[in-house]
Amino acid sequence: MNLLVAVCLGYVALLFLVAFVAERAALRGRGGWLRSPVVYTLSLSIYCTAWTFYGAVGYAARSGLEYLTIYLGPTLVMIGWWWGLRKLVRIGRTQRVTSVADLISSRYGKSTLLAVFVTLIAVIGTTPYIALQLQSVTASFASIAQADPNAASLDDNRNIALWVAAGLALFTILFGTRNLDANERHHGVVMAIAVEAVVKLAALMAVGVFVVWGLGGGLGETLARIDASARGQWQVDGARWAGLTFLAAAAFLTLPRMFQVLVVENEDEGHLRTASWAFPLYLMLISLFVVPIAVVGLEIMPAGSNPDQFVLTVPLSQGQNTLAMLSFLGGFSSATSMVIVASIALATMVSNHIVMPIWLRLTGGGAVISGDVRHVVILSRRVSIAAVLGFGYLYYRLSGGGAALAAIGLISFAGVAQFLPALLGGILWRGATRTGALVGLSLGFVLWVWCLLLPSFGTGVVISESVMAAGPWGIGWLRPYALFGLSGVDPLVHAIVWTMLFNAGGFTLASLISFPTPLERLQGAQFVNVFQHSGRTQNWAGDTAQSEDLMVMAQRILGPAQSQALFQEEARRQGLVGYLPEPSPDFLARLERELSGSVGAATAHAMVGQIMGAATVSVDDLLAVADETAQMMEYSSQLEAKSEELTRTARQLRAANEKLTQLSVQKDAFLSQISHELRTPMTSIRAFSEILRDGGALDAETRAKYADIIHGEAIRLTRLLDDLLDLSVLENGQVNLNLRTGVLAEVIDHAVAATGVENGPLRLVRDRQAEEVMLETDLDRLAQVFINLIANARKYCDAAAPRLTVSVQVRNGRLMIDFVDNGTGIPRAAQALVFEKFSRVSDQNAGGAGLGLAICREIMARLDGSITYLPGQGGAAFRVTLPVAQRVAAQ
Ligand code: ADP
Repeated sequence: MNLLVAVCLGYVALLFLVAFVAERAALRGRGGWLRSPVVYTLSLSIYCTAWTFYGAVGYAARSGLEYLTIYLGPTLVMIGWWWGLRKLVRIGRTQRVTSVADLISSRYGKSTLLAVFVTLIAVIGTTPYIALQLQSVTASFASIAQADPNAASLDDNRNIALWVAAGLALFTILFGTRNLDANERHHGVVMAIAVEAVVKLAALMAVGVFVVWGLGGGLGETLARIDASARGQWQVDGARWAGLTFLAAAAFLTLPRMFQVLVVENEDEGHLRTASWAFPLYLMLISLFVVPIAVVGLEIMPAGSNPDQFVLTVPLSQGQNTLAMLSFLGGFSSATSMVIVASIALATMVSNHIVMPIWLRLTGGGAVISGDVRHVVILSRRVSIAAVLGFGYLYYRLSGGGAALAAIGLISFAGVAQFLPALLGGILWRGATRTGALVGLSLGFVLWVWCLLLPSFGTGVVISESVMAAGPWGIGWLRPYALFGLSGVDPLVHAIVWTMLFNAGGFTLASLISFPTPLERLQGAQFVNVFQHSGRTQNWAGDTAQSEDLMVMAQRILGPAQSQALFQEEARRQGLVGYLPEPSPDFLARLERELSGSVGAATAHAMVGQIMGAATVSVDDLLAVADETAQMMEYSSQLEAKSEELTRTARQLRAANEKLTQLSVQKDAFLSQISHELRTPMTSIRAFSEILRDGGALDAETRAKYADIIHGEAIRLTRLLDDLLDLSVLENGQVNLNLRTGVLAEVIDHAVAATGVENGPLRLVRDRQAEEVMLETDLDRLAQVFINLIANARKYCDAAAPRLTVSVQVRNGRLMIDFVDNGTGIPRAAQALVFEKFSRVSDQNAGGAGLGLAICREIMARLDGSITYLPGQGGAAFRVTLPVAQRVAAQ
């Protein structure tokens, strides 16, 4: 006995170690071997619980080959419905499904009600099953203890159940709630379960080999014995076989623990490929020796001994203590692995769909902001695990570990099979609705409770004998085993038929009648068309391929240099040769961060998710991406506008620059011009003043003449400086206009008088009547223009009888005053130039510095008018234009 406890503890310690090492390896991102399809396949073996490990032999001993249906169901699913499983796994992955309740609830519009309902059914269906495992461990203890002279009492056995429950709770809490992985994967647990799967298969095979070759006298003889015994007969009850196979197949998909390992813990869809043949093989191997053990056991064991314990008691009776120990460990493994996974699965459901919503409601969601939700979730998981195991233990104690438990396996199956219509309908039929799922589940659940669960406690315990026999209130068609008059059928088949009929029927009808909400519709499309939605149809490629894809994508976004540096650095950090790192969660998170700098967080997440095949783009993702895209487009259009503005500014700047260069050239020319203009009079002033200073033999007349020249040059210089100053004032726009009203004729009179032409040879021709025009302008400045024009005519008109005609007219709302003389005029090429500074057509000395017309042009611009040269008038002709508005205003 002590040895047994020691072996037990040693085995548990080994499991702890395995789980611990696996967990560590996974955390360091080095758990490549954890993701092997073999581990996945082995983890599926939790389907074979202690109930099948021990019970199958007992089952075979009682009912022959019928036990095979329990293995047949999953085998058919694995081989025949392989694509459906793949779809389920893909949905689980893309929707980040954490449990069967989560899957059903999120398919039907994230319905909390459905989630709670499914969770409750799962708890009700699983708790007795956990009790069953505790019972089988305890029973196996007892079997070994009976063979031991220092037999322990039954009380001790009960304590054993307690210890086992507590130990399992500890293990599950330690490795099942270690970290809050969004994907709910538990590498340590899965690894420990894989080890247990090997142990239980090895144990059963070892016992089988011993029985066939050690006791049965070889293969041929054993087969002969089987033939001889009633157990080998094919007494096939068609309905029961079909019902049981269906039930096993359904339970394989819907049992919370199976869903956990099949979908939630799945690392790679590709593993299903291996599992689809390897798992049926496992089932075949584990069922291979069931009949021989049963037949030989029945022969050699004393009558009345429990066939459920043959796997253990047959070796014990032969003194094979080591084999018995192995067999015990096999049973122990079957029980513990089932309990661990089942409690994780249930705890996830209870915590996610019951505890957390209540807690969040109580705290008003305030903690979500402060960020301590993690701890609450982990705590609620731990409490839920402890509670689930506590319930299991309580159930075991209360039920007294009696025969009622033996039947509970199939009853549990039938209970969780109620999820099947909602589950299958959800992933295959877009029209399935929440109402349909609720109606179907409720009908199925109620019928299951009435036809199977309640009667299972034994007649008279919950349902009285009279109700069983005559129905409640004497209503015959409500009898649990003969519902709607369907009597004489095996109770299990009876229950399967009615629950499934009502469940599936209600589900279909209500789905057809009811109307889905938009969210349901959306989720429905996502679930049913998961392969289209998740883009990559295949995810069989290994990690390197994923890394490569990530690299290609990163290069597109970050640029080759930066992404190569990033990948290389990570590869070095992971201690790998080459430039491709393993896509560890850390690295993916980092990559996402880097990418989100360029494309936004949601887009980065969606992109990495796409490549890792871990997630499709959910609606939320899409919305976030759309938001980001909108923002980016807004931003880019802003940028475009900015860049257009910049182009415009650049063009303006270029123009300004060109103008500046031009001006600078002009300024240089102007300066050299000016110095030239100033130098000429200065030179003569200096020369003549020097002659006068040196004295010498100069007569008075010559002196006077020289003094005159100096005087004249000084006047010219002064005029030049005056003109320059005037021009600079006008050009800089600093001129103050003195607006007055007056008559044009008077202005011209004033100009004529100022030039003094009346005394010269130039004859003026005027039309005084036309000149009677009122003006409102700077009359002095206008006169200055006229003076200039008249003076020029006097200076440059080379006609024998010089004449200047001044004519006035109003055309197109403008007043035009033309000054036309009868000289040779200005050559065509020079006509545009005469208005420029220092421009002189001829080199006469009489002329000025060439500033006069430039000043005129500036003045006219200030007066809102203009001065132009009129070609083709015979002589020089200038036209001064003024806006007529002044004239109209004046009249
Ligand atoms: P200036 O101060 O030399 O008179 P203007 O700017 O007034 O300079 O005139 C520029 C040049 O235009 C003169 O040098 C002259 O050659 C030519 N010019 C101006 N008016 C006449 C005219 N009525 N007939 C012929 N040439 C003229």
